[in-house]
Amino acid sequence: MKKYYVNCVIYGSEDTAFATEGNRIVSTGKTDDILAGVTPLQEVVDLNGMFVVPGFIDSHMHLLELGHYLFNADLSGCRSNEDIRKELNAFCTRNPDAEWIIGRGYHEDTFTDHSVPDRQFLDSVSADKPAAITRACGHVMTVNTKALEAAGISGDLELDGGRVTWSTGLVEENAIHLIHDAQPKHTPEMLMKYIETGSSYCNAKGITVAGSDDFLSVAKDSRLVQDVFEKMAYQGRMTVRVNEQCEFEDIKTFARFLDDGYTMDVGNDYFRIGPLKLITDGSLGARTAAMSKPYHDDPKTSGYMSMSDEDIEMFVKLANRFNMGTICHAIGDDAVQRVLDVFKDNVLPGNPLHHGLVHCQIMTRSQIDQVLRQKLSCYIQSQFIDYDASILEARAGKLLAKTSYPFRTLFEGTLTSNGSDGPVEMPDPLFGIQMAVTRKSVNHDASMIQDECMTVEQAIDSFTVCGAKQLFMEDRLGQIKEGYLADFAVIDQDIRKMDPEKISTAKIVMTVMDGEEVYAG
Ligand SMILES: [Zn+2]
Repeated sequence: MKKYYVNCVIYGSEDTAFATEGNRIVSTGKTDDILAGVTPLQEVVDLNGMFVVPGFIDSHMHLLELGHYLFNADLSGCRSNEDIRKELNAFCTRNPDAEWIIGRGYHEDTFTDHSVPDRQFLDSVSADKPAAITRACGHVMTVNTKALEAAGISGDLELDGGRVTWSTGLVEENAIHLIHDAQPKHTPEMLMKYIETGSSYCNAKGITVAGSDDFLSVAKDSRLVQDVFEKMAYQGRMTVRVNEQCEFEDIKTFARFLDDGYTMDVGNDYFRIGPLKLITDGSLGARTAAMSKPYHDDPKTSGYMSMSDEDIEMFVKLANRFNMGTICHAIGDDAVQRVLDVFKDNVLPGNPLHHGLVHCQIMTRSQIDQVLRQKLSCYIQSQFIDYDASILEARAGKLLAKTSYPFRTLFEGTLTSNGSDGPVEMPDPLFGIQMAVTRKSVNHDASMIQDECMTVEQAIDSFTVCGAKQLFMEDRLGQIKEGYLADFAVIDQDIRKMDPEKISTAKIVMTVMDGEEVYAG
């Protein structure tokens, strides 16, 4: 059955209407011409001049982890114990069958009434079910009596690099594993719920496709997670198309995966195997990103690599033999250099497999030049600018800050796509577009050099047509065009005409994926 969308402004087109049938866009044209072909029983949606963009493509995130984060109680907005109680009670109402009550993200330094969550408080929230809440930093947890009992803890406990204090229910560092081990294992059904939760969140932001790294997040079992995604794709339950950025426990597991016949491009348009993903260093915020020189604001450390040069090369070479591209998380300029050294001799001219760098943050001029020369793929996250603008110079120093986050240069010089790294930043392409265009923090009084500001069109492209190219789907996604898959988002106004500093206030009115409405605002 055909469905008509009329009276709209279509990004990348002069047309004002289009029709879908099944999961495809079957025609585009002027509203009057399109309306002329409508028969009385066919559905017509009048978009009243609103702005239609191709479904946003978030080219690097962690969909499963995002869903897991959202599925549990989010305590990041709590300013008192009573706020925590409300969130946990809401979690229980949403999940009456949950065996454990789990929350994360509280920050008692910000509590306005100076309350501190402890065992007695959590007992008052739940006396019969175990409850565990993790602080924002992830290094400390508070639990109730039931949770301690479930973990076999009956008093104070000291262990290597960890501690449990019975009186307060405070569980620190390595002792957190004891609580995690006592919690129910993530069953395939739970993993599916997380994926659906994460997908719904994305749909509400206009996202219909994600390059997603999930194999080792939450369940830490690549085969199990792959099975879950394949099953959901087969059952037609995906509302975000996933291009999996495959991380593995070790090279043996990767070899087995390849032996089983998997490599890049195996799968379908709901779940497809993407590139091999390697994590080579840490983060700028935690000063664990590997830098060539000590941190400007902490000369005692220059971060560190999480993989050896030999291992990076071994993985890349094995992937190459199976026509699988490799993308490397590399944030510090030392990590970038080591990855570039491996790519130098292991990437074919023109980079047909889209070997690339994820994050593209701390970089030198000569590193940027090599990326452009070799046409390496760049996966940027312009949303990072909001926080990182406030720490970049302090961490990296003035000189290095000048050539860092060189998003416009990368966009204009090589294949560059945008994303959120959710749940590190909560996916929000409109906010990402605003950050790419303004490079001005909203939540901090800071900005990044303005030479690297993208135009609004470039920023939209980085979340649509370039994302589709990055994931080898440009023949069917990333544009509103006849024959393309019916993935699109309707925004209440043309963001090209807005004050760039306000773009993120535009509203997603509707998201359609595969011809089906997956979100209505
Ligand atoms: Zn990531």
